[in-house]
Amino acid sequence: MASIPQLEFTNKDAIPDIVNGVRSTFHTQKTKPLEFRLVQLRKLYWGMIDNQKAIAAACKQDLGKGHFEANLMELDFCTQTIIYCCNNLEKWAKDETAKDIPFANKLLFPKIRKEPLGCVLIIGPYNFPVNLLIAPLAGAIAAGCTVVLKPSENAPNVAVVLQKVIEGYLDPSCYRVIQGAIPETTALLEQKWDKIFYTGGATVGTIIAKKAAETLTPVTLELGGRNPAIITKNADIRLAARRLLWGKIVNAGQVCVSQNYTLVDKEVLDRFVAEMKTAMKEYYPNGTRNTDDFGRIINDRQWQRLKKMVDESKGKLLMGGEMDESDRYIEPTIIQVDSQTDSLLVDESFGPLMPILPVNNLDEAIRIANEVHETPLGLYPFGNKKETDRCLREIRSGGASVNDGFMHGSLPTMPFGGVGDSGQGAYRGQASFDCFTHRRSITSTPSWLEGMMSVRYPPYTGKLEKMRSMGNLKPNFDRDGNVKFSLVSYVLSLGAGSKTGGLIRYVLVLLAALGLRQYLG
Ligand code: NAD
Repeated sequence: MASIPQLEFTNKDAIPDIVNGVRSTFHTQKTKPLEFRLVQLRKLYWGMIDNQKAIAAACKQDLGKGHFEANLMELDFCTQTIIYCCNNLEKWAKDETAKDIPFANKLLFPKIRKEPLGCVLIIGPYNFPVNLLIAPLAGAIAAGCTVVLKPSENAPNVAVVLQKVIEGYLDPSCYRVIQGAIPETTALLEQKWDKIFYTGGATVGTIIAKKAAETLTPVTLELGGRNPAIITKNADIRLAARRLLWGKIVNAGQVCVSQNYTLVDKEVLDRFVAEMKTAMKEYYPNGTRNTDDFGRIINDRQWQRLKKMVDESKGKLLMGGEMDESDRYIEPTIIQVDSQTDSLLVDESFGPLMPILPVNNLDEAIRIANEVHETPLGLYPFGNKKETDRCLREIRSGGASVNDGFMHGSLPTMPFGGVGDSGQGAYRGQASFDCFTHRRSITSTPSWLEGMMSVRYPPYTGKLEKMRSMGNLKPNFDRDGNVKFSLVSYVLSLGAGSKTGGLIRYVLVLLAALGLRQYLG
């Protein structure tokens, strides 16, 4: 593999001035006009396109990432995200009329304005070093924030190219890159931010959340997970094998949402392993060693960590197992383990290791999944509909792909995020804009409304009932928690949600009003 260049770290002493500069720009209102944001997004798009060869080459150098993966999962993911932001920005940024406002308060013209959060910090990881830095950046630009980015020092070639793209194509007074490792990131965390967006492991996520708490800075944390796949005896075993193998060969298993372990019903274990081996031969007829279609582990430290996990496992090797430190190569490897406390299950492997734990039934699989990690990032149930529904109901997770590997995590427009200790907050699609946006509630009280408003001023005598009559909601339930039957609410709920229902309700209300008018003469 190509040697790793010495990434030039930003001088720590320069960091406060750089951050202050970007923060001051935010206060000049420069990033507020939509046209400014759109121009920056368009320039970012062209920066990515103009540098696509350099980006793919850097991915190859850092992670052994091949042409297909680098283009599809790094470059195209970002360019698609940018175009999607451009196409939708006007719609997302428009003021929203506030919903469910009592009639009397509608005269205050209540609305929700989408304000940029301010000056934000985005810290990226090494595994998808382009995608996981640029996709949040697109959201932050769209939202009107100014941004400081800290690429992962563990993917140094990509870090260099991205700095060139960001600082060469975007307005440098608004968007800056800081290069560095722990000392530089620590210096960044000393600065005041309006939001910190972090992708990476939970240990560092905890450091970031603690630091942010000191200044009540909001965070989005995109963390890792010990994600379970579950295969029942009613699953399509061939499909399960093909799809889960895909989930582990992408990026040599260095994917936060790939399955960390698979719980397989004992009855179908042999078939599943046989199908995995067949799929492996089909995907890689000449093996994974000398192909552009299979990557490498990011660095020696991570390679050693993975080797240790395998060495400490008490499991039985069923497929693969070849490892070469000089090349940071690890062959896709299946190991049958006999306990949920095996080294391959207790930690996130983040590599092409596929431990399989045989189980007696779905009850046992669900119990183990919940014991290994209560809130993983992803969940991959394979079985009939009843079984996969049950898995979704009884196992929590950030997201899930039913009858597949991490498909839900590969859609650039679908909100993506963890739950519990696999993360907080979400982005992608409109969620990327929302993630960096403050929804500011605004009312405007007309001066001519003062007569009506006087009901809120002291002296309060006799005013409480008047206020209550102006729109207080009435309960439709009794003391036992049961819903009370009322003809009016029954009629109003007819066909709720459908256009025809709305029309029926409208006609009924009209008839009632006409009847009332006749009755009143
Ligand atoms: P990493 O080593 O690239 O570190 C991530 C970032 O944290 C880097 O920018 C690094 O400089 C910074 N950092 C490291 N130590 C720090 C410290 N002590 N203080 C402040 N900053 C520090 O990546 P990683 O964390 O090893 O990445 C792997 C993990 O990331 C896995 O757990 C994986 O599941 C998770 N991940 C999650 C997602 C997601 O979207 N949820 C995506 C990718 C990776």
